[in-house]
Amino acid sequence: MDLSYIINELGEDRENYFNAVSPPIMQTSNFAFKKVDNLRQAFEDEMGGYLYSRGLNPTVEILRKKLAALDGAEDCLVFNSGAAAIFAGVLANVKAGDHIVSVKSPYTWAQRMFDVILPRFGVTTTYIDGTRTDNWEQATGNNTTLYYLESPNSWDYALQDIMAIASVARPKGIITMIDNSYCSPLYQKPIEMGIDLSMQTATKYISGHSDTLGGVLSGSHQMMKKIFDSEYLNIGSGIQPFNAWLLIRGLRTLPARFDRIAGSTLEVIDFLKQHPAIESVIFPLDKTFPQYELARRQMSGACGLFTFVLRTNKRESIVRFCESLKHIMMAVSWGGHESLVIPKCAGIPPGDFDPSNPGHRYVRMYAGLEEPQYLIDDLKQALKQIN
Ligand SMILES: *Cc1c(COP(=O)(O)O)cnc(C)c1O
Repeated sequence: MDLSYIINELGEDRENYFNAVSPPIMQTSNFAFKKVDNLRQAFEDEMGGYLYSRGLNPTVEILRKKLAALDGAEDCLVFNSGAAAIFAGVLANVKAGDHIVSVKSPYTWAQRMFDVILPRFGVTTTYIDGTRTDNWEQATGNNTTLYYLESPNSWDYALQDIMAIASVARPKGIITMIDNSYCSPLYQKPIEMGIDLSMQTATKYISGHSDTLGGVLSGSHQMMKKIFDSEYLNIGSGIQPFNAWLLIRGLRTLPARFDRIAGSTLEVIDFLKQHPAIESVIFPLDKTFPQYELARRQMSGACGLFTFVLRTNKRESIVRFCESLKHIMMAVSWGGHESLVIPKCAGIPPGDFDPSNPGHRYVRMYAGLEEPQYLIDDLKQALKQIN
């Protein structure tokens, strides 16, 4: 299916709404019935039609069709946040006594679920260095039901060999789930590589404007129906019609934003790599990246988010650098129009800062839609402040 078709046409029945180019926001909680038997059918299979907007809603349906097609999946569910999509996808595939193998340091709220919530229900998790495929197999017990991947992750971009891990899991009947937020389905298609459940936050690139949250879980019809009938309806964390509409709007410009950001990212990285105050830049499509070959094999691109290591022994220098930026904002998240930085040391108690650990000197940057030279000038003046 053509990308342009997915983005501009798929799921949109314009003749049903006055040929409006932009679809309506069906801001309704419930749907009326004329026949008892039709109501009974809706109770029996809520995924089969409109009953109540905690289940299906027409604006959300448009988005669902587009996002499933982007993922190359049979179906998808759209949640009110990426964290909700992770929660539902994991919860649907474990029961008391089960074991998860997860890549080490997954997204904060995935880790929080594995460490804090699931142990209360007798589900345990083993974290591994996911860069070596052997490690997945070695950590697997006979109660392992889920492999949890995040490739690349969003600080040091460590990759997993997605196809190899999927083929370890499949014969053992282990479900594979990946957090695909860094690449989005535009740059990486895990379902086509054999992954069962592909998750992405829609808050970042799909929204693109830092004005809504959302999360996507894609997979087979059967898997989506299982999750819809239990976790999706029960937790009630499906996306709301207005937020779904914002995400449809964001999708319209997604490829254009990626093209722009991919170019700016390379310009900014080129500037940083030759700056004396920068020790290194970490970006999966940079030739110096340790898993560059794997990145080229399983990702068709990368844009926006990268990390650089400041050449300094002092926490204060990192603080001064971040606080000296005049245009690039300091904030969590990424994927919006605005460029951002976040220093790793913001998550480390000042007394624990260890300059001999390059990870403590990480500054993660997201290059947004500004002119690349505008960003470079801002970085240049802030880098002057550090010593
Ligand atoms: C932001 C993010 C999430 C969570 O998405 P929300 O929409 O913020 O809940 C999950 N994984 C990664 C890698 C993220 O960056």
